Amino acid sequence: MEYEVVIGLEIHAELATKSKIYCGCTTEFGGEPNTHCCPGCIGMPGALPVLNKAVVEYAIKAGLATNCEISHYSRQDRKHYFYPDLAKAYQISQCDYPLCRNGYLEIEVNGEKKKIGITRIHIEEDAGKLIHDEYGRGTFVDYNRSGVPLIEIVTEPDMRSSAEVKAFFEKLKAILEYTAVSDCKMQEGSLRADINLSVRPKGQKEFGVRTEMKNLNSIRAIVRAVEFEAKRQILELEYGGVIERETRRWDDVKGESYSMRTKEEATDYRYMPDPDLYPIYVDQEWIEQIRATIPELPDDRKKRFISELGIPEYDASIITASKPLADFFEAAAKESKNAKAISNWVMGDLMKKLNDTGLEPSDIPFAPGNLARLVSLIDENVISGKIAKQVFDIMWETGEDPADIVEKKGLKVVTDTDAIRSVIIQVISANPKSVEDYKSGKTKAMGFLIGQIMRETKGKADPQAVNRLLKEELDKL
Ligand code: ADP
Ligand code: MG
Ligand code: ZN
Repeated sequence: MEYEVVIGLEIHAELATKSKIYCGCTTEFGGEPNTHCCPGCIGMPGALPVLNKAVVEYAIKAGLATNCEISHYSRQDRKHYFYPDLAKAYQISQCDYPLCRNGYLEIEVNGEKKKIGITRIHIEEDAGKLIHDEYGRGTFVDYNRSGVPLIEIVTEPDMRSSAEVKAFFEKLKAILEYTAVSDCKMQEGSLRADINLSVRPKGQKEFGVRTEMKNLNSIRAIVRAVEFEAKRQILELEYGGVIERETRRWDDVKGESYSMRTKEEATDYRYMPDPDLYPIYVDQEWIEQIRATIPELPDDRKKRFISELGIPEYDASIITASKPLADFFEAAAKESKNAKAISNWVMGDLMKKLNDTGLEPSDIPFAPGNLARLVSLIDENVISGKIAKQVFDIMWETGEDPADIVEKKGLKVVTDTDAIRSVIIQVISANPKSVEDYKSGKTKAMGFLIGQIMRETKGKADPQAVNRLLKEELDKL
């Protein structure tokens, strides 16, 4: 039987506000355990919450950037559950009256465009963190993260493959970065996704029973978890089993998901309006003020890079998916006047370096102007493309200006024909066999000789001059 996979996401993003959602404590990541806390965010009885206005602004911004309707009236509710890192034994969230609703994002997979619905975006508070002692002395709790503001973005069950999930998630991440709503550092837990997934026989109208995998914190893990869970459910059904409505944990090391607990229903949480907090009233004027602060978003920037800077659509899609990378590219391209060459470097050597080192585009260790000047050095034939790769590597290590590197290391192209000719004569006399091969019509021998000459000159000889002069010398023989 053929199956269709159905996926909906619940994504939590920590907001980039300076202070927490209901108190003035800092949201800064890390720090000595329990130093970013006050009676409010560690849940002392009697400490009252006061809503941080910036949280509402950031959440509205996220809503506007994802085509949501903004509620003029919304409410904050208590969601009850016990967890040692949730000191109040309830989390303040939003249940029936979320701040944003009915949005969507457009994604493109294999050239096909598709809208993915966003059911709602609501604000809530993050919990603390449990630290299991590695010597088995017990479990510690750090409340620094307790009360850090979150938005939860819930999608419709509109995705049908891991590729669509990846495209949606990357698009959303880019938008949150562009609007600076969240720093989206997944390795620090600033952005994490829960995956709801079910399968159904192709053609069946009703959805199948879904499972939920919580807190996936890398795009790679999300893709792998979707693929594993889809396969698992299909196999289960093929062998006559049933899918349980349950919460499963994704183990990224083993590459498997396993059952954690049966899913609790909304009624289990005993949602109730928080009596300590007023409803949130948002008027149209405030919404318009916030709308005016939204910068150019990835799709528009992509169009502009194609039309203004003349780079291919494929390059533009990849580069604009990351704001810091797009900023770097744009700065370099504007300084260089050879945007296509800049794009090639970014798509090639730069992305490879980021991949190899695990660094983020915001950590690129040299200025965009350095890449622009490196491209000029090639375009003006001061260095060869091959040498440029060496210069790039040094630039990455030291952050030095490419012209200084070329000067210091003596990497300039040798165009002096006398110097090149003397190397050629030397190479010819050292390789009589290759010369003979060439003379007897084996043109491949020429390539070998060129290789030897480039090696002797450490790749600095002007390739055109080498070609011409080598031919001349061989023809003389
Ligand atoms: P709950 O309140 O139990 O979390 P929701 O109705 O809010 O359930 O849905 C949570 C998420 O599950 C949403 O992202 C939604 O798109 C997704 N979802 C709902 N039904 C299915 C299904 N049958 N298969 C896959 N995903 C689903
Ligand atoms: Mg839910
Ligand atoms: Zn506090």
